[in-house]
Amino acid sequence: MKTEIIKIEKNDSGALTLGDIEAIERAGRMIKEGGLVAFPTETVYGLGGNALDPESSKKIYAAKGRPSDNPLIVHISEWEDIYKIAKNVPGEAKLLADTFWPGPLTMILKKSEIVPKETTGGLDTVAVRYPSDIVAKKLIESAGGFVAAPSANISGKPSPTEAKYVCEDMDGRICAIIDGGEGEIGLESTIVDLTVSPPQILRPGFITAEMLGSVLGQEIKVDKAILNPDSNLKPRAPGMKYRHYAPSGELVIVEGDDEKVIEKISKLLKEDKEKGIKTGVMVCEEHKEKYDADVIKITGKRGDQKEAAHRLYSILRSFDDEDVRSIYSESFSDKGFGAAIMNRLLKAAGHKVISCK
Ligand code: AMP
Ligand code: MG
Repeated sequence: MKTEIIKIEKNDSGALTLGDIEAIERAGRMIKEGGLVAFPTETVYGLGGNALDPESSKKIYAAKGRPSDNPLIVHISEWEDIYKIAKNVPGEAKLLADTFWPGPLTMILKKSEIVPKETTGGLDTVAVRYPSDIVAKKLIESAGGFVAAPSANISGKPSPTEAKYVCEDMDGRICAIIDGGEGEIGLESTIVDLTVSPPQILRPGFITAEMLGSVLGQEIKVDKAILNPDSNLKPRAPGMKYRHYAPSGELVIVEGDDEKVIEKISKLLKEDKEKGIKTGVMVCEEHKEKYDADVIKITGKRGDQKEAAHRLYSILRSFDDEDVRSIYSESFSDKGFGAAIMNRLLKAAGHKVISCK
């Protein structure tokens, strides 16, 4: 299959041009006809198909090589559409939507009959998100209103934050890729489960536990199984049990006091170099001069969580592009948005962490 690349131009004020609208409407028709189209959102690029068509969902799993028990998120372009695909929608959903939608928040609700089990990985719940990106919104609307869209990467690889990474993974497998530039946030949406009381976070993201808690007036906790690698607990978001986001080189996180971390990483780099292994580091701006690695990637100024999240996946992919075999990352605070960054980084590293005392 030839994959068409559709470039979004936007005008000076950031609005879609008439040409953009026409092209997105055409892509929407491809989805309506059972095809798959990758598109930008404010989090990462999604791989979209008609969420109400079991055959389209099967095509998504096939294109990604994704296990079919890992459910898809259904994207909508009007808040009221939640009532068409979910039932017993609690008041909390409206409160959260009023504050955080459109935006990077996914809610888990009881599914209605029109959502096929192929889309929900066999579950009787459905994940719903209303994204804010204007290209995403227009595409969902043009495709009929319900677009199942996991991240547009081959299963296990870092989620794509730019169209070129979607192309690397999906060229020849899908009808089209809409290139709308870089996603602003860079990490996938926060997932909150509203079928349990109190609601629980199944995947941390830009919308933090504190933000959800302050709207709902109660403390919101994160599913314990995703924070603890040694636990026998099963994560409640099926996708969180899979190895994810991983570069093909070996990634290790080194945590502790600055000086100790620099000393430890430097020692490891030296050992690798002696063995002739190509090395890389992921470090803050302030430490970039401290390391003698073949490839040095900067996560941003120290403590700048937004920048680190925004850069994380493209850094992980670029280590692969440069064929780095041994990668060391400094650690991040796990407070606020940092919980999402550390969750993804730990998964990418297969939970390999060295603590310096
Ligand atoms: P991705 O589409 O790549 O962003 O991944 C979607 C994530 O949402 C995966 O971790 C899924 O397991 C999770 N998810 C989707 N639907 C549900 C659901 N009904 N219940 C729990 N988790 C879900
Ligand atoms: Mg994904």
